[in-house]
Amino acid sequence: MKLILLGPPGAGKGTQAERLVKNHGLIQLSTGDMLRAAVAAKTEVGLMAKDIMERGDLVSDDIICSIISDRIEEPDCKNGFILDGFPRTVTQAEALDKMLLEKSMELDAVIEIKVDEAILLERIEKRAAETGGARADDNSQTLKKRLEVYREQTAPVSDYYRKAGALNEVDGMKPIDEVSQLIESTLN
Ligand code: AMP
Repeated sequence: MKLILLGPPGAGKGTQAERLVKNHGLIQLSTGDMLRAAVAAKTEVGLMAKDIMERGDLVSDDIICSIISDRIEEPDCKNGFILDGFPRTVTQAEALDKMLLEKSMELDAVIEIKVDEAILLERIEKRAAETGGARADDNSQTLKKRLEVYREQTAPVSDYYRKAGALNEVDGMKPIDEVSQLIESTLN
């Protein structure tokens, strides 16, 4: 099974992805995690991405698409994967369609976790406080910037899949278990 999880920062994508990994034996491919690993390892990509991520901006489409294109061909992706944090722009969504076609792969579902923005801001500020800045981009200024980037560049990705008739929306304001159930029922 090949899935895309869409939703703004703080919507619970990570939590739901973890559950899908457990229940369906999928691999979670988080471009954010991959970039953080690259930053920590001080690779060329990491050095380039560090400041961009700390600002809450997006890393270039070309770099992200090439990372994903290589990653989904790895043997551990054979049983399926969840794309978490990708695609984040319409350009990335178009590139993904193209690479899947070239690799004779098909998406099974695109799921968007919908949340109320005002409550989201509360949630992400709480997360910033709780983690005490464990992530360099988890301070409220950067998180606000990330929400703005989401609205401008990533929300159109939902429209892209909606127009293709591929978008499944779930109410992310429900309790975590209910959200998981809603996701499971879209998969059946
Ligand atoms: P995330 O953990 O998904 O919230 O990602 C953390 C940061 O990594 C984002 O704020 C971006 O700077 C960068 N990033 C992650 N995924 C992408 C992507 N698909 N395209 C561009 N930048 C990304």
